[in-house]
Amino acid sequence: MQARTTTRWLNTGVETLSPLVRRWKAEASADPETFWGQAARELSWFRPWDRVFEWEPPTFRWFSGGLTNIAYSCLDHHVANGRGGQAALIALNERGEERVYTYAQLTHEVKRIAACLRGLGVGTGDRLTIYMPVCAEAILLMLASVRIGAIHSVVFAGFGAGALGGRIRASGSRLVFTCDATYRKGTDVRLKEIVDDALAADDHDIEHVIVLQRTGQPAPMDPRRDLSWTEFVERAADHDGGWVELEANEPAYILATSGTTAEPKLTVHVHGGYQVGVASMARWMYGMRADDVWWATSDIGWVVGHSYIVYGPLLNGCTTIAYEGAIDYPRPDALWRVVERFGVTGLFTSPTAVRALMRYGDEARAPGALPSLERVFCAGEVLNAPAWDWLQKDVLADRIPVIDHWWQTETGGPVVGNPYGLGLLPIKPGSAGIPLPGMELSVMTPEGETCEPGERGILVFERPFPSLTPTLWEDPERYENDYWRRIPGKNVYFTGDSVQVDDDGYVWFAGRADEVIKIAAHRIGTIEVETAFLTHPAVAEAGVTGRPEEVRGEVISAFIVLKQDRKASDKLRTELIQTVRSELGPVAVVGDLNFVELLPKTRSGKIMRRVLKAVVLGQEPGDITTIEDEGSVEDARQAWLEMQAAIDSSR
Ligand code: AMP
Repeated sequence: MQARTTTRWLNTGVETLSPLVRRWKAEASADPETFWGQAARELSWFRPWDRVFEWEPPTFRWFSGGLTNIAYSCLDHHVANGRGGQAALIALNERGEERVYTYAQLTHEVKRIAACLRGLGVGTGDRLTIYMPVCAEAILLMLASVRIGAIHSVVFAGFGAGALGGRIRASGSRLVFTCDATYRKGTDVRLKEIVDDALAADDHDIEHVIVLQRTGQPAPMDPRRDLSWTEFVERAADHDGGWVELEANEPAYILATSGTTAEPKLTVHVHGGYQVGVASMARWMYGMRADDVWWATSDIGWVVGHSYIVYGPLLNGCTTIAYEGAIDYPRPDALWRVVERFGVTGLFTSPTAVRALMRYGDEARAPGALPSLERVFCAGEVLNAPAWDWLQKDVLADRIPVIDHWWQTETGGPVVGNPYGLGLLPIKPGSAGIPLPGMELSVMTPEGETCEPGERGILVFERPFPSLTPTLWEDPERYENDYWRRIPGKNVYFTGDSVQVDDDGYVWFAGRADEVIKIAAHRIGTIEVETAFLTHPAVAEAGVTGRPEEVRGEVISAFIVLKQDRKASDKLRTELIQTVRSELGPVAVVGDLNFVELLPKTRSGKIMRRVLKAVVLGQEPGDITTIEDEGSVEDARQAWLEMQAAIDSSR
């Protein structure tokens, strides 16, 4: 745990916990049911729950017997409270198009689409797949489906036919919604053709594919199966778009994890608990208010898009921006231009995005002072201290805080963080913050021993919280085995992340537990080594893995992407290895350092270290349906082979 330079956002000492955070944490620990029951009362219910929480490990239910509907709470509730005139959604794209919907307009449109879904025979419990980019229609479909009790399964529109087909089959969807094409950095990607490929084999339940025309170019249509958006909308004529009252544990949506470590799992999020968790954390963690202009730069294909482009901001009645496109296109400062133009007050982005911008250097700086912006959040991977430093100091001149926080697709919302909404604590760059109120966490060894502060172990949840996935879609056995039975004899949820907690209670993420590198009996987290590389000014990105070695058991294999203006050389290689050694000590033995153009990453921007591991072991990479660029595997393999050849010839 590194002591870093101080800024006014930085300090230490648990006594600095704001009185509110301290009180809330204590109340939540002492009586979680009362605590979460109070949080739930802030939302609208058609009928109150009978029990706040029932738990027969690993099965749990929150707010059972309560009747609610998350789409009603996001829309009609605000209109009924006189807030119909406020902007709810601003949908933008990189071509400069923009559409604004007030709460009243969004409610009206969602109702209309809900009626259209009913026109196609969709009802409670039916599944539909949305394979669309971040656009207004996709969000209307998400809200319309949950309004009538159907279950959406959004598949990231960057996935290919294999990943899409697998998710369509696994969800048992009857409908797929798509577009003729989407735009990415100026080129168009033909989504409808990918859907056709995914459905080529007759092993699915799809009855209709509905195609939103966006480019004016003809998309192949099968008249027996495919409908244009116009034909779909015409179905509304004889149907109503009213909401249904749903028991709190009814599923609202299915969503796959991003697949960094293995085959993706289909999580399930429900109307009651998810709603309470996401709405509460929006306020406690992000300090969301009705007058916020909120922008999460993620995609609706990921959990951040579900929870904090769509549901969280709308539950809290603020204005949310949905942006289709890349944050560095058409120019590296595109992100800041949107912030400036729409007066964004709260921004949520990913460490990968920050590191990608860092790679551009000065070109990615904000063009002006960004007076509207109050706070920036990052999650998805660790926000390494050097990347935090760049954004916090170089770009934002320390005017507002840059705040890391941790969660998973499974958790639906933040679990560890620095609760801006309850009173920001001192920031320790590189740490994701403290367990948020209502979260009962522990650090354990794989054998179930509790770790002391400073000791490395696995982060586990001692109790479920409302937004935690209660099962995996049609696979309760995998749910039980992968999460609840990993630590023998303990009823704890296994996050799979290796962490340590410092004396102030801050959690430091070291990497996935199964990716920890063991060098001569010392355990080093992949994140620690990558962070050490990033302290060197030439490095834009680093991905590391352990490689077996006779003397020490394992050594570090490093894959390094340099900043745009830096060139690979043996001198630089030696310098980087030295940097890691001086940051982490002589135990951090770098066995080989490979310069690459790209790291293998998931489409959601997470480094796939298991692919690097396969490269250094000379194995096949396994399931790479979620990879962003297959070329990155070849790039890593080539760099690795060249490095080995150079080592051999120097022997
Ligand atoms: P997924 O649910 O597939 O998007 O991935 C969740 C995983 O991303 C977590 O289990 C962590 O390994 C990683 N992660 C997310 N946020 C952070 C963070 N702030 N710091 C470190 N790792 C993170």
